[in-house]
Amino acid sequence: MGCCDAPGLMPINDAIAKMLASIKPVQTDLPLPLLDAIGYVLAEDINSPIFVPPFANSAMDGFAVRIEDLGQNKALPVAGTSYAGQPFSGTWPKNTCVRIMTGAPVPKGCDAVIMQEKAQVTDQGAIFEASNIQPQSNIRPKGDDIKQGDLVLPKGARLTARDIPMIASLGISHVNVFRKPRVAFFSTGDELVSLGEPLQSGQIYDSNRYGIKPLIENFGCEAIDLGIIPDSPSELKSTFEKAQALADVVVTSGGVSVGEADYTKQILAEIGNIDFWKLAIKPGKPFAFGSLTNAWFCGLPGNPVSAVVTMYVLVQPLLAKLAGHSQWKAPESIPAESRSAFRKVPGRTDYQRAIYSIENGQFFVESTGNQSSGAFRSMSLANCFAVLEQDRGHVEIGDTVNIQLFNPSLY
Ligand code: AMP
Ligand code: MG
Repeated sequence: MGCCDAPGLMPINDAIAKMLASIKPVQTDLPLPLLDAIGYVLAEDINSPIFVPPFANSAMDGFAVRIEDLGQNKALPVAGTSYAGQPFSGTWPKNTCVRIMTGAPVPKGCDAVIMQEKAQVTDQGAIFEASNIQPQSNIRPKGDDIKQGDLVLPKGARLTARDIPMIASLGISHVNVFRKPRVAFFSTGDELVSLGEPLQSGQIYDSNRYGIKPLIENFGCEAIDLGIIPDSPSELKSTFEKAQALADVVVTSGGVSVGEADYTKQILAEIGNIDFWKLAIKPGKPFAFGSLTNAWFCGLPGNPVSAVVTMYVLVQPLLAKLAGHSQWKAPESIPAESRSAFRKVPGRTDYQRAIYSIENGQFFVESTGNQSSGAFRSMSLANCFAVLEQDRGHVEIGDTVNIQLFNPSLY
């Protein structure tokens, strides 16, 4: 029966598709020094201006030879040395060899390098254990890694710690990247207290900003923290006004569930165009999305697990699109055998917090226990989501479930 069990709930993929359809990527690009560009999205293709390596060189410390000169117990006098950075520049007579170091250019005519462990140096020259030397052995040819003109990274890739040295090897010192989207965020609720303050009766610590900020940054955006805003119409209104002037996206937590904080809805109706959705996702059913005059708006539910799950599942693809990160991919599903039962009723897609392990190449998964949307331990203990499909009911031990390993944003 699936979503028919819960009429009116919007499937997650429909919500993501609606949001993506209205988002246009930030277009401003800026040149950045390569070392400062990590985490930014490329605004240009990176094509290699050179061959890497730029010349054929030795993969070993050894001797450059011409294979035709080799013979059983034949000594080849050493005609000179090729160092990395100081190539052999002399003439290379027939029936001699050239001492060569790793990374040094191979002399013209050389068709193999023999590692020094396979050479015996005598007064007459180097004698090689010369059985079966294959042409080009231990030679890294010019362009072995990259050819001039190769597309190394496309526009829309987000630069990682693996990409930066790759680009450096091409001699490129600056790259054009998109500016990071700016995301202003605040928590709403009269019950919330900042860390460092004692809790009075009925109060709790505001943990959502501590869940949301690292995600914004790990998604490749700039986070602007506007603090805790009480459930007060005037303060909410002025904070929304301030937030949208500062940011491309405003993210709030709390106050989007049914019956709560009607003035949030009122204010948003005055200053924007917001849909309050009920999504077929658990945790995280109440979610709001729309536009303010100068910014997009995402309203997350207040429960801490719901806030983080909806940031991850719903807001992450939106911010990726805004950032121009066209290479972004949603986490993949992997089938795993369940080692615990998972309680589930059909109607919503459940992102249950779980722990996977791999034994003999097979994935196994078990629940982290208490799956209350207020129980953040379930997130903290998890290393994956067990994604239980909308139509699915209880999962028994031994059943197959699809898991999604956390992407780096949750590390
Ligand atoms: P709400 O969405 O405002 O109805 O809040 C739902 C639940 O999440 C309530 O128990 C709130 O106290 C709690 N909550 C809301 N905001 C936060 C926050 N920033 N940190 C921790 N818990 C919160
Ligand atoms: Mg609230």
